[in-house]
Amino acid sequence: MTMVRFGPAGYPEESRGKPERVFEILREAGLNALEFAAVYGLRSTEERARLVGKLANESDVSMSLHAAYYINLASKSAEIRERSKARLTKALRFAPLMAAKRVVFHPGTMGGLDRDEAYRVIKDALREVRETADRSGNDILLAPEIAGKVRAFGSVEEITRLCNEVEGTIPTIDWAHLHARSNGGLKDRNNYLSVLTGFENDLGARFVDNMHFHVSGVTFTESGESSHKPLGGKWGPDILPLIEIVSEAGYGPTVISETPNPIRGALYSKFLLEELEASNK
Ligand SMILES: [Zn+2]
Repeated sequence: MTMVRFGPAGYPEESRGKPERVFEILREAGLNALEFAAVYGLRSTEERARLVGKLANESDVSMSLHAAYYINLASKSAEIRERSKARLTKALRFAPLMAAKRVVFHPGTMGGLDRDEAYRVIKDALREVRETADRSGNDILLAPEIAGKVRAFGSVEEITRLCNEVEGTIPTIDWAHLHARSNGGLKDRNNYLSVLTGFENDLGARFVDNMHFHVSGVTFTESGESSHKPLGGKWGPDILPLIEIVSEAGYGPTVISETPNPIRGALYSKFLLEELEASNK
């Protein structure tokens, strides 16, 4: 069976920003994935990135890198579009230093463009970033994320189409975002299954071999996501049906928790899988 990996988004607070302590905490908790949060820009030095990579390899923690929130490949401003491409290119360059195989990012908000125009602009920008990276032998996957706001670029259809048309990309399925943008649409097993089989049919092994999930509870309005909440409480989505599918299908996703206490969310998700598999023995 493929291994499912669980871990937090960002350094745990108790680590006080010390990489050595981060990996100790993960080891103690029995977690084996980490999404490095460069969400306010990549401020790390190459030396520090290499230290993270070394520690990750030593502790068998699978790394991903979340690029800056203010990337907007569909901005009206050419300057912001150029800067966004440069930020992604830099993230791709840093990823291998920290042993990360994926760069997660939000493609952008519409910024006055209509959805078709935004799609074209984002696709062209990603192709350009990809080609620049390919020329330097960089094989890190670009992982555009399902967006939590309805107006942002990043429906399941948009992310599928983007991944279909740009080489070296995979979806980041943020289940909380999907739940929020579909007005609470993740209710049962079939809701999860249709998303997974849709991506699998379109992207095949590229998707199945590189499944990347974000999980958390979420509150939302008709315009989409409001805030991230713990898992397993009164907020949806309930991820048990998802974990059941993962277990039955033998999928091996990396599950990154974006709950207010990401370590707890990661442990909760891992616990669901362990309980299921223990009861199936
Ligand atoms: Zn996310």
